[in-house]
Amino acid sequence: EAKRRGSNTYQWFTPDLEADSQHQLMLRSQLQEAIQKHQFRVFYQPIVSPDKTVVAVEALVRWLHPERGWMAPNDFIPLAERTGQIVPIGTWVLEQVCRDMPQLRAVGVPHISVNFSPMQFYRDDFIETVTGYVEQYGIAPGELTAEITENVLLRDANHAIRMMNELRKLGLAIALDDFGTGFTSLSYLNMIPAQKLKLDREFVHQIHQNPRNGAITRGILAIAAELDITVIAEGVESPAELDYLQSYGCNYLQGYLFCEPLALTDLLVWLDHK
Ligand code: C2E
Ligand code: MG
Ligand code: MG
Ligand code: MG
Repeated sequence: EAKRRGSNTYQWFTPDLEADSQHQLMLRSQLQEAIQKHQFRVFYQPIVSPDKTVVAVEALVRWLHPERGWMAPNDFIPLAERTGQIVPIGTWVLEQVCRDMPQLRAVGVPHISVNFSPMQFYRDDFIETVTGYVEQYGIAPGELTAEITENVLLRDANHAIRMMNELRKLGLAIALDDFGTGFTSLSYLNMIPAQKLKLDREFVHQIHQNPRNGAITRGILAIAAELDITVIAEGVESPAELDYLQSYGCNYLQGYLFCEPLALTDLLVWLDHK
């Protein structure tokens, strides 16, 4: 019996996988501590129009890990989504964004876009939580956008869409994030009450030299225009990409060409020197 179990165990848990799952376990408990000790920070990346006017910023979370220093979302958000820890993290991000809104508003940045995880949409107190912060911090209609991916539809599409409509009633806009990746289907544009879509940087990369990316992007821009949906191009890194996007009518842009995500104080300096 023991031997059988032993060999099964060995079969499934190779030393590497075991080390990896131990690493995950450690990261999970460190995340718990990070939530309690407020080790997260919100960075902001400008979204600009072609004349470089900042029309909005996207809030992007970072973890200031006590030993490892700054950690990017890709190193902890996927785990936090599996463990449910994304809910308190997302709630904290939303509150921080609402707290920062007056300073951004004061310097003429009228809008903040926030990433929401699907899991947040399935908490009973989701709308109550958002309503609470919107009221507590005096967020005006049109000042916030909820960025979501189509994954939000996987569990219960009707529920998710109801939640989006509730957010709309609270004055938030909905942006469909990472559009064009994963299993994105054009029918999502019909299902999701989105006012904006974010063209994934996979399509933006070297768009002027990649006829397929160019064709897909032009198609998305044409459909979005018909549906009255604003397109924001992500990951714009070169003037050639900018020129191409602009010439096909993509008028909202985000990427290192303009500015990387910055802490609020650094963003305020950047805005001041622009
Ligand atoms: P996203 O929402 O698609 O955000 C855009 C990502 O592209 C950001 O990565 C940003 O730093 C990066 N980026 C911007 N411009 C450029 C560019 O010109 N070139 C390249 N190569 N990259 C660029 P970041 O900050 O590492 O975030 C990664 C992802 O983590 C986000 O992708 C989003 O899905 C997730 N995320 C970030 N913050 C939050 C959050 O507060 N809540 C949730 N649920 N997810 C978050
Ligand atoms: Mg986003
Ligand atoms: Mg995105
Ligand atoms: Mg993306």
